[in-house]
Amino acid sequence: MKIGVLGLQGAVSEHLSATKRAMDSLGIRGEVRWVSHRDHIDGLDGLILPGGESTTIGRLMATTGLLQEIKDAVEKGLPILGTCAGLILMAKEGDKHVERTKQPLLRVMDIKIIRNAFGRQRESFEVDIPIRGLKGKPFRAVFIRAPAIERLWGGAESLAELEGRTVAAKQGRMLAFCFHPELTEDTRIHEWFLELCKG
Ligand code: GLN
Repeated sequence: MKIGVLGLQGAVSEHLSATKRAMDSLGIRGEVRWVSHRDHIDGLDGLILPGGESTTIGRLMATTGLLQEIKDAVEKGLPILGTCAGLILMAKEGDKHVERTKQPLLRVMDIKIIRNAFGRQRESFEVDIPIRGLKGKPFRAVFIRAPAIERLWGGAESLAELEGRTVAAKQGRMLAFCFHPELTEDTRIHEWFLELCKG
């Protein structure tokens, strides 16, 4: 199995190591690749879009040609996991600011997002949240200047809510989280994604 982590900006190495740990715990023999060029997409079984700054990652994706390459691959069925800024990039619709500035997005998932949705004084916090589809205890979710999902439609379903807002969603073989699963020891979310990549 070959899994790529988009490595243009953000929490890249954390996802590389979380994915390797998830492979070990499932007994999957695989390879985790750093993706920084459009030629790196071909042959992947799954791709992770990390957190960071969605404006920067989006702009770099557009200039490298990765934006169109990834969009085409996802439309042909490539599974993707997006966390925080990665989730923003997956959304078909952004907030007013996103739409006005036309920041580049993949626009592959039936969700509308709001950037930096959890307020200034709470820009970063951790909370245990139950996630539908994830076996066992609630997940320790690390929120860092996190977005929220304001609306879902079509094939997208909500997996978790916080303060009445959706913070995790699934659509087919796409998983999206407003928080950072790669920053904890718990690899259940990465394992779930690897199972989707196998199927
Ligand atoms: N606030 C960032 C953005 O809007 C996302 C933050 C993150 O990925 N931790 O792109």
